[in-house]
Amino acid sequence: MKALLICPQYADALWTYKHARQFLGKKASSPPLGLLTVAAMLPVEWEKSFIDLNVNQLTDADIIWADIVLIGAMLAQQASALQVINQTHRLGRRILAGGPLFCPELIDQRLFTSVDHIIVGEAKGLIPQFLADLSAGCARPIYCQEGYPDIHLSLTPMWSLVDLRDYAMVNLQFVRGCPFDCEFCYGHVLNGHRQRAKSRPQIIAELDALYASGWRSSIFVCDDNVAGNSQLARTHLLPTLIEWMQANNYPFTFTGAASVNLARESELMDMLVSAGFESITLGIESPHEESLVEVHKHQNLHLDLLNVVHTIQSHGLEVQTGMILGFDHDPPEIFESHIDFVQRSGIANSLVSLLFAFPNTTLYDRLKREERLVPYEVGNCVHGAINFKPAMSLDSLTAGYKHVLQTLYSPAEFYARMEKFLDHYRPVPRPFHLQPAQLVTVARAIYYLGI
Ligand code: SF4
Repeated sequence: MKALLICPQYADALWTYKHARQFLGKKASSPPLGLLTVAAMLPVEWEKSFIDLNVNQLTDADIIWADIVLIGAMLAQQASALQVINQTHRLGRRILAGGPLFCPELIDQRLFTSVDHIIVGEAKGLIPQFLADLSAGCARPIYCQEGYPDIHLSLTPMWSLVDLRDYAMVNLQFVRGCPFDCEFCYGHVLNGHRQRAKSRPQIIAELDALYASGWRSSIFVCDDNVAGNSQLARTHLLPTLIEWMQANNYPFTFTGAASVNLARESELMDMLVSAGFESITLGIESPHEESLVEVHKHQNLHLDLLNVVHTIQSHGLEVQTGMILGFDHDPPEIFESHIDFVQRSGIANSLVSLLFAFPNTTLYDRLKREERLVPYEVGNCVHGAINFKPAMSLDSLTAGYKHVLQTLYSPAEFYARMEKFLDHYRPVPRPFHLQPAQLVTVARAIYYLGI
């Protein structure tokens, strides 16, 4: 059998860093972790090929070569994924699809009728059954995950299928699940509230494989929440990372996402830094308490969120943040409140987006009950698109959103934030390996931006 794995193109969004990548000389942000992990689960005797449409073009000949085409996609890849499905269907090749895009709500909307087989949920628990059915000639149209599979079944991604030089960053995942219940979040729907961690040998094998591939740069640890279970992080994940990084002379740097309770965990912050974490993305979402209550972001309530950010910065971690506009309880002055909060926090990289109701989230179900969902072209806040009727007028919301982005990313405001960041940041000395590519990045930044 010949299997072609395809990663559809992402729609442009703030987090794809399209314009920032020109400084790095990279074609895409990161290779698709899920698809490369699925590749490792396919029979060893199968020939495998991989095309990332964020990096390369897909031709009819590529598809005709394959006996089966595997597509993994998120909502932000919907437009490209549908094109790939149509092209593959036209050429008469079998399609297996999975990933968050292929969720029950969109399947019910008959969006994927040309797909032969769909995996709903985590692939690791379903791929073996699909492969057995395929060889028996009775593969089903849909495979649904019951509960959450054993994370110890997860294999090391097949990095050999990818040219890592095309990417700015690589993703790894060690722990799935988050104990919190944010209304808009798909993470806890997909991965559950109980955190499931890979074993120490699995973690070491993934780090070894990436090291052997030649990667010597930044890794995004795409666990739902590295502070979701502090004890698990302090006694299992971080000791393993620290030991491996010390033994290998710190070849990587890490970044990841955490909830704001991280600021209460001094030992956890110190261990993150010792493991090589340089930055953390905090889910702050809003400076407005009523909006946080509305979306069940209870862990952010009754806290001085500015102090949370400054505490984490003072432990040697740069803080990035996700911020959201468009909650029902956002008052008219919310746009200025966001700007004021981000400026005073010293958060250089604030990913401000419009609220988007992802299918199968609690938010989506509520808005559906309230008959407020509206059709959309592309997902995930791309181009300022939303898929529901907001409480404030749509014109006010999109105008306010643009104002926030234009203000936060104007040079004067950005540099003012950097100064604020340096007031609070206390860097911790650690081994640093200067790469020639980093010097080229600095030269490009000077060329494009000046000094
Ligand atoms: S803390 Fe983050 S990962 Fe956890 S439920 Fe909230 S948004 Fe999702």
